[in-house]
Amino acid sequence: LATHFLDRIEGSELNAFLHVDRALTLAQAAAADARLAAGTAGALTGVPIAHKDIFVTRDWRSTAGSKMLGNYTSPFDATVVEKCLAAGMVTLGKLNCDEFAMGSANENSAFGAVKNPWDAKAVPGGSSGGSAAAIAARLAPAATATDTGGSIRQPAAFCGVTGIKPTYGRVSRFGMIAFASSLDQGGPMAKTAEDCALLLTAMAGFDERDSTSLTPEQGGVAEDFTRELEQPLTGLRIGVPREYFGAGLAADVELAVRAALAQYVSLGATLVDISLPNTALSIPAYYIIAPAEASSNLSRFDGVRYGHRAAEYTDLQDMYKKTRAEGFGPEVQRRIMVGTYVLCHGYYDAYYLKAQKIRRLIAQDFEAVLNGPNAVCDVIMGPVAPSVAWDLGDKTDDPVANYLADIFTLSTSLAGLPGMSIPCGFGQGEKNATRPVGLQIIGNYFAEAKLLGIAHQYQ
Ligand code: GLN
Repeated sequence: LATHFLDRIEGSELNAFLHVDRALTLAQAAAADARLAAGTAGALTGVPIAHKDIFVTRDWRSTAGSKMLGNYTSPFDATVVEKCLAAGMVTLGKLNCDEFAMGSANENSAFGAVKNPWDAKAVPGGSSGGSAAAIAARLAPAATATDTGGSIRQPAAFCGVTGIKPTYGRVSRFGMIAFASSLDQGGPMAKTAEDCALLLTAMAGFDERDSTSLTPEQGGVAEDFTRELEQPLTGLRIGVPREYFGAGLAADVELAVRAALAQYVSLGATLVDISLPNTALSIPAYYIIAPAEASSNLSRFDGVRYGHRAAEYTDLQDMYKKTRAEGFGPEVQRRIMVGTYVLCHGYYDAYYLKAQKIRRLIAQDFEAVLNGPNAVCDVIMGPVAPSVAWDLGDKTDDPVANYLADIFTLSTSLAGLPGMSIPCGFGQGEKNATRPVGLQIIGNYFAEAKLLGIAHQYQ
């Protein structure tokens, strides 16, 4: 199995993989074979998986898509990687992504863009574009990804695969190179919801090495995420947020999403019209909070402790300056500057504090419809992104156009809720007819098993 996928990776021109090492993979495969022979195998033993290059690995390089970490190899494995290895999974290598997971098109990788397997002219989405492209092109049957503001759901949608962003704190951030720590959440991507359920079961759980990992008292307990796969959908109330279907949503995406909703009605669900009034504010709030946290997290890349260091410099300040100017790409530099600015004394209250207040309002929007005795729906459904994948190069020089495309994924992240994307058809017209559309399913905290069951029953 490992050889099959390694051969496919070798023959691929999508640029989905950054680091592959056949000998290392085959050694892990041999160990899995031994477990199978000894009768100690689990459901995932011997199943190959590829990891987004934001998860550190002891045996493969870990660059986070950045020149800053171009030659970096970690002395340890991320918890998620450790857990996959403990389940007997076989690592295929490391996947391309936007630099430090900042982007929506995988065009911000220092190692080149990834192509969408459905249409080589289209972006795969981002920041986990390598993960989604690899699954879609059958270069890997499973992948890890991370979602800070949509980076699991949106590339899954653009590449027609399935991905789930768990409740914040479900999956350990230990060894996940940090972007915005209060938002970053790892999760699986695969072909089906059932595969994602098996993977999440292996990946999730409390980890004392991550200070925001959910403790057992907070609900961070081991769970079987396959348990609701066959749960009947009769009586399921699906909230359909008005704000997700307004102007700005492409007609072909709306058509595919509404057809998916109709299918759920035929499976016994009812649709409830809901409002998430602060949806539009998620963009300014996120693009203040995420850069603020990033500017702090990325201060560790100073040329002393990790990765790249400028070759020539006059003094320490000059070394920092040159190292960071050379090591970080334009989008990362932009975010460090925005983040530093909004955290400045004098601007903090006007920007950062205000964004935090909006974050609370956004969480309350969800709470009002999903939580407690007055809840009007069990889950929420809508589009993942306002359009299908756009052309490579289309929005490269327009950061704001990239940010605006995150409108339907950011609020879930700001609220810390679980959300997933499943393929629900294609766009329309000559150009879009082969570009996939994703259906987003959002649930209350800890509702992953329910989401996966609902996703599993879509045909
Ligand atoms: N597109 C968003 C950003 O650039 C989200 C990225 C992510 O979820 N990692 O910040």
